[in-house]
Amino acid sequence: MSIPVWAQLVYLAAAVCFILALKGLSGPKTARTGNLIGAVAAVVACALPFFYADLDHVPLILAAVAVGTAGGVYGARTVQMTQMPQMVALFNGVGGGAAALVALIELHEIVELSSAPGHDVGWFTLLATAFTILVGSVSFAGSVVTFAKLQELMTARPVVFPGLPVVFGAALIGSVVLSVLLIREPTMWLGVVLGLLGLLVGLLLVLPVGGADVPFVISLLNAFTGLTVAAGGYVLSNTLLLVAGTLVGASGTFLTLLMANAMGRSVSNIMFGALKGGSTLGSGVASDRPVKSANAEDIAILLAYAERVIIVPGYGLAVAQAQHTLRELVDVLGERGIEVDYAIHPVAGRMPGHMNVLLAEAQVPYEQLKEMDDINGDFKNADVCLVVGANDVVNPAAKTTPGAPIYGMPILNADEAKQVIFMKRSMRPGFAGIENELLFEPTTTLFFGDAKESLGKLLNAVKAL
Ligand code: NDP
Repeated sequence: MSIPVWAQLVYLAAAVCFILALKGLSGPKTARTGNLIGAVAAVVACALPFFYADLDHVPLILAAVAVGTAGGVYGARTVQMTQMPQMVALFNGVGGGAAALVALIELHEIVELSSAPGHDVGWFTLLATAFTILVGSVSFAGSVVTFAKLQELMTARPVVFPGLPVVFGAALIGSVVLSVLLIREPTMWLGVVLGLLGLLVGLLLVLPVGGADVPFVISLLNAFTGLTVAAGGYVLSNTLLLVAGTLVGASGTFLTLLMANAMGRSVSNIMFGALKGGSTLGSGVASDRPVKSANAEDIAILLAYAERVIIVPGYGLAVAQAQHTLRELVDVLGERGIEVDYAIHPVAGRMPGHMNVLLAEAQVPYEQLKEMDDINGDFKNADVCLVVGANDVVNPAAKTTPGAPIYGMPILNADEAKQVIFMKRSMRPGFAGIENELLFEPTTTLFFGDAKESLGKLLNAVKAL
């Protein structure tokens, strides 16, 4: 079906909007506008075929749109900030799965067309179709496993079994062979088996990845989905899908590489570390070594008489939803003339930008959020470093312990501050599952309890001084 010129122009405008949306999303001040531009462009693009195409099954399509919209709106409104990575995984998986199904439907038409005498579909279209079916299925199955791991529907530890690398390798080779056969002579059953094999590859790709690395895999699968959609755009001769898919593929690839850099690891180490015999997680056992702890009143004195305070927020801040109380505390300290900043580690929390989003929600001024490289030299001047629900991102094992799961990851230099205060509930380790030597340093004091409750007590104690 050919697309009229006016519709092509609208698609082009939507593609430009997607690029503008990405540009907007790259900064906290413009992110909301960027998101809105992208959403409007997506709605326009989805509505467009109703105006130029001779569609069959319109009631069914509208019913599917209604179900998808209701699910998306409900999910986005009710999801907790800490569950955002699962949500992204699910949306991503659905995107990949949809692209694979559309490619299978296209294959059905291709098979019928190729049986007509003298009709040649072209090998590149068949290659793009096979790619979309395979990689879309990989993305779907992989995303479902990442969702199950993060939602704790299954163990977050790497799942490996003897012979896994062999089965994985065989499934990969099988996929390539089937794709070649499909390009040579397209049949529906080849497409279906290719899709099933893709599901197996996705499953085996993600099962051995440890919980701490799962958000990284989500980003990788996101890149896969983008490429799948781009290939689907080629098969359907739809430029918008081609552009949008390429954008998602490229940004997903960049994000994956940035996350690997921020963790000081290579992509293959993250993906195949468990297959090589090493777990990507530590034992996760809580330490029983003695530590120094204090109550809210003692900590309040340390904070209120400091000149320079640096706050390190982490995953626990998100769990406790303590961002508003933290901001109130920082405001009160600011009123006392104390210079306070937040040190943001690129992988603090469970997704890139997690802390930025959380603190923006509490209306923390952007100027107070300092990137790791900008603030790391400043810790030595800090009287107090207040670590709120963070652990791995300040764990010196990243510098000192070869073999530790986080070894090589750049960390915030909290250990250089004159005093370090850790707010956490117990002696349990962070997500990487390893002990943090900084907890036992003489300059470190622990303040046990849920971050929201503890910050409330601290706020009252500082106000009372
Ligand atoms: P961590 O998971 O290392 O530590 C979180 C800390 O919060 C724990 O010490 C926990 O201790 C504490 N905590 C949990 N709930 C509460 C609560 N309600 N109140 C107070 N404290 C609480 O978090 P970090 O942010 O330091 O590090 C992030 C980790 O996630 C890194 O290992 C990173 O590599 C990994 N990761 C991050 C990604 C990202 O994109 N951001 C992607 C992939 C992995 P306790 O249970 O004792 O309270």
